[in-house]
Amino acid sequence: MALRFFNTYSRQLENFEPRDPAGRKVDIYTCGPTVYSRAHIGNFRAYIFEDLLQRHLELRGYKVHRVMNITDVDDKTIRGAREAKIPLRKFTEQFKQAFFEDIETLQIKRPNEFPAATDQRYIDRMIEMIATLISRGLAYQAEDKSVYFRINKFPDYGKLAHFDLTQLQSTGRVKHDEYDKEHIGDFALWKAWDEEDGEVAWESPWGRGRPGWHIECSAMATALLGEQIDIHCGGVDNIFPHHEAEIAQSEGVTGKKFVRYWLHCAHLLVDGQKMSKSLGNFYTLPDVLEKGYTGREIRYALMRVHYRAPLNFTWEGMDEARQALARIDEWLARLRETAAAKTDTLKSDMHVGEQFEEALDDDLNISAALGFLFETIRQTNRAMDRGELDSASANSWLNWWERVNSVLSLPAGAQLRASLDVRGELRAVHIPAEIAELVRQREEARLAKDFRKSDELRNGLNARGWEVRDTEGGQKLTRRAGA
Ligand SMILES: [Zn+2]
Repeated sequence: MALRFFNTYSRQLENFEPRDPAGRKVDIYTCGPTVYSRAHIGNFRAYIFEDLLQRHLELRGYKVHRVMNITDVDDKTIRGAREAKIPLRKFTEQFKQAFFEDIETLQIKRPNEFPAATDQRYIDRMIEMIATLISRGLAYQAEDKSVYFRINKFPDYGKLAHFDLTQLQSTGRVKHDEYDKEHIGDFALWKAWDEEDGEVAWESPWGRGRPGWHIECSAMATALLGEQIDIHCGGVDNIFPHHEAEIAQSEGVTGKKFVRYWLHCAHLLVDGQKMSKSLGNFYTLPDVLEKGYTGREIRYALMRVHYRAPLNFTWEGMDEARQALARIDEWLARLRETAAAKTDTLKSDMHVGEQFEEALDDDLNISAALGFLFETIRQTNRAMDRGELDSASANSWLNWWERVNSVLSLPAGAQLRASLDVRGELRAVHIPAEIAELVRQREEARLAKDFRKSDELRNGLNARGWEVRDTEGGQKLTRRAGA
């Protein structure tokens, strides 16, 4: 099957044809974080979807060049710096660093470039684009000295969001400070300086001020990737007005189609509700890590639902993610044992195929791809139970996993294996995922000197028929006779 994606612009599944099919090169632009606070797990759902997209394209032989911008000047960052009483750059720097830490924890590939809006190079480019838009009658300076995009002069405005402009006129409420715009939907390209901006300002032909958020992305995207981009991603929240505005500005300047494929990730809900600080269901990555989950468990939980379907984040879902990963770890450990056993007696009739990749070819259908992975695990485990999987087959499944995991990017449960390797004589004994998980948690509890929890976990293991002893080499696990 050809690779295909759902294009928000056409509202259809379309076969993927990049600008340069022969070179197999793909350019992706992603709207990155606004660095005024720590990003939340809803943001990371979108970044993980984009990471999955990049990794799958790479598995299919494309060379991906990805740009993710950093919005380090806008209303929120300026307000935050003012309240913290520190310069804007200092204020945003801490959240930029936190963002880099978080994407590393989540195994998100670093984009090739992270342009920042306040870089003078891009400010110059924004000014140049705005000047061109004014010269074409697509923008104007209003009485408040700010420059606005004239949406009535851009007939395609609203096409991405499938939005009717007349509706905007009839239902839009005119905000007090927007009285001098020609149309309620006209958006700011350049915001004239006001007191609230403090020291944040750049010189421009229209006076001191700062760029609007939308023009930042148009300038950085076209400066780094040229007039046309293969894929532009973001969350559904970005469709209107942000991406609609990006199209109007970029095409208004270049006269060329800005983006070939628009891909948008659906919302993340927490316990079925919209995440909000007032509801107390607002989580950053450190919030979830603090509850004892690992980066790979969070990555898995945020990745496992198709990107166009809303994802409901729950603690039960996190536990399911933990169990799913334990199953994978356990399966890999068994495959390695089987591969090392050098048996070539019975051949299984299972063959490594391309179903996993083919599921992802179909608009990144991760649910189907994971379904196939777990069905494979079930069948190979059954073959191993019966002694019907020879070492060569075990090896080919291990190689297959390497390919699959180049997309999933779930690091091996290293901690788990370290603790189980000390069990010496038990090396060949099969340890169920649930037990392995309890041992892992107990190791964590002991490292944290939480002996009460450690004892509770020991009791839990005993109740399941396993003895655990603490030795110099770590925990030693033995199965009780008859258990
Ligand atoms: Zn953007």
